[in-house]
Amino acid sequence: MKRFASAALAAALVAAHPAAAQVTALVGGNVVDLDGKAPVRDAVVLVEGGKITAIGPAASTPVPAGATVVPMQGKWLAPGLMNMHVHLALNLPGSARIYNEKPEAKALRMLENAKKSLHAGVTTIRSTGEDGGIEFSVKSAIDSGRFQGPRWHTAGESIVPTGGHGKLEADGPYAMAKAVREQIKRGATWIKLGISGGISDERGAIAASPFTDEEMKTAIEVAHRNGVKVTGHTGSPQASEYALEQGIDAFEHGYFFTPELLKKMKAKGTWYIPTIVVSQKGALEFYRKIGSPDWYLARQASVGKVHWETLKAAIAAGVNIALGSDQYPYEPNEGTNATVREAELYQKAGMTSLQALRAATIEPARMLGVDKEVGALKPGYLADIVAVDADPAADIRALRTISFVMKGGEIVRNDAP
Ligand SMILES: [Zn+2]
Repeated sequence: MKRFASAALAAALVAAHPAAAQVTALVGGNVVDLDGKAPVRDAVVLVEGGKITAIGPAASTPVPAGATVVPMQGKWLAPGLMNMHVHLALNLPGSARIYNEKPEAKALRMLENAKKSLHAGVTTIRSTGEDGGIEFSVKSAIDSGRFQGPRWHTAGESIVPTGGHGKLEADGPYAMAKAVREQIKRGATWIKLGISGGISDERGAIAASPFTDEEMKTAIEVAHRNGVKVTGHTGSPQASEYALEQGIDAFEHGYFFTPELLKKMKAKGTWYIPTIVVSQKGALEFYRKIGSPDWYLARQASVGKVHWETLKAAIAAGVNIALGSDQYPYEPNEGTNATVREAELYQKAGMTSLQALRAATIEPARMLGVDKEVGALKPGYLADIVAVDADPAADIRALRTISFVMKGGEIVRNDAP
């Protein structure tokens, strides 16, 4: 057993066996269990070819000769976090707003934000509205391994009727169908519809429901015919109700869900991505930083309380919840970042810490349909792993102490001396 082998020694051993497959062994940490079972203490986690190949107690899980040994004593290993509502080129109203940003400048900004997100422990994201298809190129660059960033699922551009809360305007069912098809052609694995108004709109009520029935029906139908799921930005019970009837797969924000709607969502298995951080006081430091105008702050304040009540009701109703922040995953928020704070707020609103941890890991994986690949630490899963100082399944605040991040077997961050 090489529990205390130094990294240098491990490197030397690897160098001595250049032909051997590269194995990384995370040794001595405790592995969190997402099913509520006891953690594996003093564990060995073996990683090879980007995947987890074995997890077990150190006493019965030998470290192969030549493995790169990474000491994890005192640490808790959890799946990499998954943030399902991200805009990597966020550009909100305020004095910090960037006007006339060129696509290449935007691409570089996304790339930088992708790296920062990964280093914060977020190994998978879903984009819910970027501009002009730029993110598909940035995503390819990351997927190729040339640049660091999370695994990336994207909805392409957010589709709306003219004047709606989103960038790509389309009017009438045929234009809707084309807009949806264009995103899928570019590589979108989700479609995002702005089915109600939003906080950042200068005009119109958040509860407005601008899609006609025909437009919404067609957009959802076309996406589903292509095997692509649909999510709706919504703050409107009326728009949500109709979208649910048409078989929409998920709702973002949901500032104003009614009890009847939550009951239907529960029955249909519809996903809810709360993005609760955007309407709570922790986001104020961000809004101040970007110089948000008064009208924006007033709209944010107007939804804060009801959004919180909706989150509590959704949790109590047992609706499927996947974590999403709508802020940069790494954005500072209440002494931690937006991703971790979002999970903490789920716990405050009624989830157990284990449920909040699941909402940040395996639940998003289920929503994306990749729960046999990521979102849990099991043999055969991709090695997307974070290390923290305590058991986050017992106290979600442990996620504040992320000090190690591995994506697909590659150590992208290790704060250990
Ligand atoms: Zn958003």
